[in-house]
Amino acid sequence: MSTQPLITFLTGAGISTGAGIPDFRGPQGVWTRDSEAEKTSTLSWYLRDPEIRKRAWQLPAASAVWDVEPTPAHRAIAELEGSGQISGIITQNIDGLHQAAGSSPELVHEVHGNVRRWRCEYCRAAGPMAEMIDRVRAGEEDPPCPMCGGIIRATTILFEEMLDADVIEAATSAAESCDIMIAVGTSLFVQPVASLFPLALEFGAAGVIVNAEPTPFDSAADEVIRGDIQDALPAYLEGLRS
Ligand code: NAD
Repeated sequence: MSTQPLITFLTGAGISTGAGIPDFRGPQGVWTRDSEAEKTSTLSWYLRDPEIRKRAWQLPAASAVWDVEPTPAHRAIAELEGSGQISGIITQNIDGLHQAAGSSPELVHEVHGNVRRWRCEYCRAAGPMAEMIDRVRAGEEDPPCPMCGGIIRATTILFEEMLDADVIEAATSAAESCDIMIAVGTSLFVQPVASLFPLALEFGAAGVIVNAEPTPFDSAADEVIRGDIQDALPAYLEGLRS
């Protein structure tokens, strides 16, 4: 039996900025540069306003994820899995880069969904997102459902929507069962996911935060690493191994 500490990661958009996908709240974030952009992630705006949907389909994060590679930090997490030390990877990201780096899908809890598929808001139609991206790139600004003509969207969780109960249950259990929780590239601002960090600490885990900017939980953490994730996280994980 392994005596090494079990680690659960809580990752956010900052782990993927190195892959070219902008975060929301960092200095170059989509919302930092354009406060209106938040509407594209809000259900009522998305359903009500075709202009918002057109912007949602054009967002850099929505189109960039099709062409990017996982970062050294994603790969460092995936490599650690071989040592049996990972109890979960809770991610707020919708880009699928943990799995692309080689992390086992059953360990990755995508609490805000993912952009791999589209679905219709009104009928049961659904399919791979790549086919919708092809339609958008071919000039359809707000592609309608091929079955009923209704509004289609990515299988992400928008503001005003409930999280998937099974996914949040698995994420909660990964937070409660680890020895170390490492929050990486997240402002720890979005609830209820941010509360999984103090929950892990309540259940006895040590808390580590790797982020360029302060978070609301820095003072509760045992260690705060302020450097660039792409250097700092692989170095930190290497240190844990030796
Ligand atoms: P956030 O934008 O609120 O915070 C990201 C944090 O990462 C910031 O504090 C920023 O300073 C830090 N950061 C960025 N690049 C860094 C680097 N190279 N080194 C160190 N720190 C760095 O992100 P969040 O907390 O994940 O919340 C945003 C929400 O938006 C999430 O719900 C997520 O679903 C979604 N989102 C996802 C993606 C994606 O899938 N890649 C991209 C943008 C937004």
